[in-house]
Formats: sequence, C-alpha cells, structure tokens
Amino acid sequence: MEALGHGGADRGWLFALGAHWFGCCAPLSRHATPSQRATWEPGLHDGSLVGALAVTEPSGGSSFDGMATAARHVDGGFRLDGSKTLVTNAPDADVLLVLARQFPERGPLGLTMFVVPRTAPGLTIRPIATTGLPGAPMGDVVMQDCHIGLDATLGAPGAGLRVFQSAMAWERTLLLAGFLGAAEHDLARAAHALADRNALGHQAVTHRFARMHLRLAAARHLLHDAARKLDAGREDITAAAMAKLVTSEAVVECARDVAHLLAGAGWRGAPLDAVAAVADTMGTLFASGTSEVQLDLIARHTLAVARRP
Ligand SMILES: Cc1cc2nc3c(=O)[nH]c(=O)nc-3n(C[C@H](O)[C@H](O)[C@H](O)COP(=O)(O)OP(=O)(O)OC[C@H]3O[C@@H](n4cnc5c(N)ncnc54)[C@H](O)[C@@H]3O)c2cc1C
Repeated sequence: MEALGHGGADRGWLFALGAHWFGCCAPLSRHATPSQRATWEPGLHDGSLVGALAVTEPSGGSSFDGMATAARHVDGGFRLDGSKTLVTNAPDADVLLVLARQFPERGPLGLTMFVVPRTAPGLTIRPIATTGLPGAPMGDVVMQDCHIGLDATLGAPGAGLRVFQSAMAWERTLLLAGFLGAAEHDLARAAHALADRNALGHQAVTHRFARMHLRLAAARHLLHDAARKLDAGREDITAAAMAKLVTSEAVVECARDVAHLLAGAGWRGAPLDAVAAVADTMGTLFASGTSEVQLDLIARHTLAVARRP
C-alpha cells in the first residue's frame, strides 16, 4: 500500500482498496464459515467482487449505544431494518458486512455482524457526494425488511463487536499506509518544485521539510510496529489505534505543509493539487473512528498498564 501511494496512486482509490481489503476481506478471512469463504473469498480476492463494511449510522458512528439497525430471527433467516451511512465502496459493493443489534437487552454483546449480498431483497444503496476522496465511492445503505439467509452471521450471534474489532485492527493499522506513501510522493514533488525556483535556501522552508519527514518517519514506525503484530497473529487494538491516530495526523499536517510550500502553484493545482490533498487527507481523521475514539482506546490501555501493581 505504501509503495502504491509512493508511486502516485490516487488517495481515493487507495482508500477504496483499503476499505475492501481491511474492512471486509480481513474480518471475513478470520471469521467466515467454510461455506461463506467458498462463496465470497475467490471473487473478493481476485477483485471481481467489491466488499464494504457498513457500521456508521446517521445518528452517529462513535458509539454503539444508539445503534438502531435491528436484526430479527425469522423462519429461514433474518430480517434487517435500519440505515447505515458514509459506507466506503457501497455504490460498487457486491457484498457488505453489516453490524446490527440482534439482542437489544445485551448491550454491546447483543450486536451481530451479517454478510449481506447486494442482491438481498429490501436492501437499497444510494451514492452520496463528499468533499474529499472523490475516487472512493461512498453511499448510504438502507435496509427495509431486508431478508438474508440463516448462514449470514459472520462469527457467533452476539459476537459482532469482536468481528468489528478484527476489522478495525486491520483497517486502523494498514489502510493509511497508502496515504503515508502518497505524502512521501508529494514531499518529493514539492522539493523538486521548490528547487526549480531556488527556494530551498530559506531555513523556514528546509525546516518545514525536516518536520514533514520527522512526522512521516514517526508514523511509519508505529504503523510498521502494529503491522508486525498482525503478521505475528496478534490483532492489537491499542497498537492499531496508535498507528491510525499518528498516521492520520501526520498525513493531514504534511498535506497542509505541501500547500504552504507550493503556495500559489499548489492553489492552481500544478505540479500537484495541494488543496485537494488537504481535503482528501482530512477524512482520515474520522474514518475507522475519530481521533477521540483512538485516544479513548489508548488511554484505557495506558491507565490499565500504569495501574498494575
Ligand atoms: C473517508 C471516510 C470513510 C468512511 N468509511 C466508512 C465505512 O466504510 N463504513 C462505515 O461504517 N463508516 C465509515 N465512515 C464513517 C466513520 O466511521 C464515522 O465518521 C466515524 O466513526 C465518526 O462518526 P460520526 O461521523 O457519526 O461522528 P459522531 O459519532 O457523531 O461524532 C461527532 C464528534 O463527537 C465525538 N464523539 C462522539 N461520541 C464519542 C465517544 N463516545 N467518544 C469520544 N468521542 C465521541 C467524535 O469524536 C466527533 O468529534 C467513514 C468516514 C470517512 C470520513
């Protein structure tokens, strides 16, 4: 992902790819039954099918307390009712992982993840316009008496939070690797542009480059640390939150720095559209959970460790 960004891939496309791989394929390969695997994995892996993860609701995505999408067990399967929003890839998705409340009395342990085919009766997907990442299609997902089969639960009934955490461990760790590469790509292009106009003699300019490099290097360390844990089979939610928070802030700061450095040229969109890059990166502060949500996770872990006897 980092190399794709470094090579100049569009941030929206990188985001869509990351949402497919880490939001959908990763939790599927970890939690799917053999028959779910046989149905979905070949197409998702060769790219002939597109996946999405539908969790956020119009009333707010930071907390599950108010999650209203309901799953009812009926003869021969389940009925889903509710709405999801800001779902990356939804307009193109062939399959969606949908988090719904199956056991209202059990709080967070009453959520179940469902594998919902686009063709499920009662499912409607509406594309939505966004101010950044135009290359990542985004949509609302509405379920009205949406019928899915008995074999549609991903993981155990009531274990939806566990499946969601699995998706977040992968998404928060890896989705922004492409943006890290894209920031390095933009830094290099800004350096060439400023050298061409003899602007690298100003310390104010060179120090800005130094700070950009430092932020990206620090983010890369945390990201690779969390990625190594995934490689070792550990879905470490704190390491993922740290990687996501620091990387998102680093790529936003870098996009702003590039806009400052390129000044009028960046505003005009040549040699690169610095203003669009700011809008594209801003979304990373909210996607896969806002910075406040990541800080909550990091604080919980930090205090638990600090208070050990
Ligand atoms: C580019 C992009 C891609 C996305 N892709 C997807 C996707 O594929 N699937 C999907 O389901 N969603 C997706 N989202 C939605 C994203 O997960 C939500 O935007 C995010 O979870 C925040 O929810 P919200 O926007 O409803 O803000 P809210 O939850 O309404 O939060 C508003 C503010 O209050 C703070 N806040 C609220 N509650 C709490 C709390 N309990 N603890 C700490 N702070 C809190 C938030 O930090 C924020 O500052 C995407 C968003 C973006 C920007």
